[in-house]
Formats: sequence, structure tokens, C-alpha cells
Amino acid sequence: MHLKSLTIRGFKSFASATTFDFEPGVTAVVGPNGSGKSNVVDALAWVMGEQGAKTLRGGKMEDVIFAGTSGRAPLGRAQVTLTIDNTDGALPIEYAEVTISRTLFRSGGSEYAINGSPARLFDIQELLSDSGLGREMHVIVGQGQLDRVLHATPEDRRGFIEEAAGILKHRRRKEKTLRK
Ligand code: ATP
Ligand code: MG
Repeated sequence: MHLKSLTIRGFKSFASATTFDFEPGVTAVVGPNGSGKSNVVDALAWVMGEQGAKTLRGGKMEDVIFAGTSGRAPLGRAQVTLTIDNTDGALPIEYAEVTISRTLFRSGGSEYAINGSPARLFDIQELLSDSGLGREMHVIVGQGQLDRVLHATPEDRRGFIEEAAGILKHRRRKEKTLRK
């Protein structure tokens, strides 16, 4: 499984539709400060179902919609489409190529689709949940996050490892039970 392409339209600084084609292996996105590199990563997290506006570096979800510049009016919707190569069947769906898309309207409505058919957020989460993609999977390491890990106290660092290993939720459950 690998990411094949990402199309961003009306999301953050990408007013016009912009498509990134990825080959298997490593892709690097380079550019000056503020040119939109992190916005590409935000788009990736968003289309995979990210629900936290803070994780997307905004205050509210609507902040992902292109807000306009001096030369260009704000847009009414953000849309991101991700195409995943599934020839190895890593995603539990009978397609060699899977396209997921997410649209948010400034008026508040939101839509998801899998291979062009309307879907629920839950369907996207289910589709990605066993693949190592999707949220809470630690596939996206944000800017500054490495520094936080390197400069963390031993206790905090243990927390990161427990979270990544999926132990933290069991520890929380145990603590909750012991409190009762
Ligand atoms: P750095 O190298 O500093 O990390 P970067 O390439 O990662 O920079 P981003 O953080 O991806 O840059 O992009 C920041 C730019 O995106 C800012 O100019 C900001 O104004 C713009 N931006 C963010 N949200 C929106 C939005 N909703 N509408 C229009 N522009 C936006
Ligand atoms: Mg950045």
C-alpha cells in the first residue's frame, strides 16, 4: 500500500486545485517558510478523518477553508481527495485503488466519500483503522514534536512510548478501575 496522489482544493493556502503525485518510497516537499508545506500534511491528516482543529493548527474546523488573500476572495468549501494504491489489499476493500475524499462547506455541512460514493466518517475510520493509517496511529509526526520527545522528562518519554504502543489506554482504564 502506498499513497498515490493528493488533490487539495480550497484547503488552507491552496485556493486552486493542486495535485501531488507520489511514487513509492520517500517524498520530500521543500519550499520557503510559509509556502504551505505543513498545509499539505494537514490536508493528509484531514482527509483521513482528523477531527481536532488544534491538530490542524487552527482554532475551529472552518479555519481549514481558504480564507482569501488580498488578490483572491475567500472560498465556500475545502475539499481534499487522497488516492491510495491498494494492490496488496492492505485496506479491507475490493479495489486496487481507493479514493477517499472529504469536503467541508463554510455553511457548516460536511461530506465524505469512498471511491466516489457517499460515506460516513466512521466508514473512513474503519477502512483505515487496521492499515496503520488514520488518526491516533502516529503516522504523522508534526513540526516540533521530535524536539518535545528529545527534551521530555523520562516519565513523559515513557508516556509517548506507551501511547504509541497502545498501552496508555489500558493504563488509563486500570487507573479508573482502581479509583472505584
Ligand atoms: P514553515 O517552513 O515555516 O514550516 P510551511 O511551508 O510549513 O512553513 P504552512 O504552515 O504550511 O507553511 O503555511 C502557512 C501559510 O498558510 C500562511 O501563509 C497562512 O496564511 C496560510 N494559510 C493557513 N490557513 C489558511 C487559510 N484558511 N486560508 C488561506 N491561507 C491560509
Ligand atoms: Mg511547516
